[in-house]
Amino acid sequence: MDDEVLPTVSALLLEQVDSNVWKAIEAERGRQARSIELIASENFVSRAVLQAQGSVLTNKHAEGYPGARYYGGCSHADAVEILAIERAKALFNCRYANVQPHSGSQANQGVYLAFLEPGDKILGLDLRSGGHLTHGARVSLSGKWFQSVCYGVEPITELVDMDNVALIARKERPRLIIAGGSAYSRVIDFARFRDIADEVGAIFMADIAHVAGLVAGGVFPSPIPYAHVTTTTTHKTLRGPRGGMILSNDAEIAQQIDAAVFPGLQSGPLMHVISAKAVALGEALHPTFRTYAKAVLENARALCDRLAQGGLSVVSGGTDCHLGVIDLRPWGLTGKSAEMALDEIGITVNKNTVPNDNAAPLVASGIRVGSAACTSRGMGVDEFREIGDMILATLGGVRSGTMNAHTLKAIHQGVSNLTRRYPLPY
Ligand SMILES: *Cc1c(COP(=O)(O)O)cnc(C)c1O
Repeated sequence: MDDEVLPTVSALLLEQVDSNVWKAIEAERGRQARSIELIASENFVSRAVLQAQGSVLTNKHAEGYPGARYYGGCSHADAVEILAIERAKALFNCRYANVQPHSGSQANQGVYLAFLEPGDKILGLDLRSGGHLTHGARVSLSGKWFQSVCYGVEPITELVDMDNVALIARKERPRLIIAGGSAYSRVIDFARFRDIADEVGAIFMADIAHVAGLVAGGVFPSPIPYAHVTTTTTHKTLRGPRGGMILSNDAEIAQQIDAAVFPGLQSGPLMHVISAKAVALGEALHPTFRTYAKAVLENARALCDRLAQGGLSVVSGGTDCHLGVIDLRPWGLTGKSAEMALDEIGITVNKNTVPNDNAAPLVASGIRVGSAACTSRGMGVDEFREIGDMILATLGGVRSGTMNAHTLKAIHQGVSNLTRRYPLPY
């Protein structure tokens, strides 16, 4: 970089002013364009979402809420935040939305801050059964500041057994019960969760960080009629910028949430991100988003079916959403080795623990695959079956030790052909 101190803010482009950062971003653009993205928590945003997120709203400090800010000059910030709130309410059919949480984790922390005292008990899905760190894992704030207990999945079906959740809730009497997770692929009985919460006097929080886009698109059940409060990210299946939201139907709860998010947890909201949330929520309200959500589900099922036909073990035997968890123990592979082998051919997945996994989290006995990102590029069931075949060929080669440079190159070529046929718009 130039040593000269610029007297005013520079109008130079990133490329001219900081080649190191620019090169890394361009390299990432190339990586995204050339690889098959199966990480279930990722997606590709529209150019309009990128544009809003890279806008001058990043300059605005806007502590407070629309109409009640602690700083001047907020009229345009108010306009975009009101758009985001109104669209979130329309999309999820709820009465209140807080669009300020910087992330899904902070949305959850906002709920905890609103309703819990340190030491209170929370009940969530076990991390190894597909739960999320913020649902009470020991290494996270949620497990350090609260007494966390968990429910898991049944050993045979690998499904959450609601009778068991009820038993644990009666015994433990948690203050808050959490439904949802990051690697649980089946429909969740939100109505029963609410019944259990009512029976033990708990607050029921649904975390739809992963499936929000599918809920919005009408292909996954909505928790909104049942949960006291619903949290979500905006960047997974919802296909918006990286961020969080909190939804509810109760005026008093909404007020407590607002106070917990600001000034409880955060100060200045990320107005540029909120404007991008507004854009993404607008896109999700368009009828074509329902087509997208339906395709995401069909594609995930096609991929899981193909992997199962090829002899891999799909946790719980299938999926009701955009993701599938593959148990690699029957093939004697670790999640880590599978992730690395697939990375080499240009397929990106993440290692993931599976129910009753004895491997360390950074090794893990499974991988998680998701269909949201490649569906955003336009791929359909045929392409997802093809991706399934590439995964089977790669992992089969690793398993039998027969993988050679020639086969690897052929599979990699298949990946290149697919990504060229379905380019990204940026
Ligand atoms: C991804 C996820 C989160 C956290 O979202 P971040 O934006 O990464 O903080 C919270 N809950 C669940 C269930 C998730 O899958």
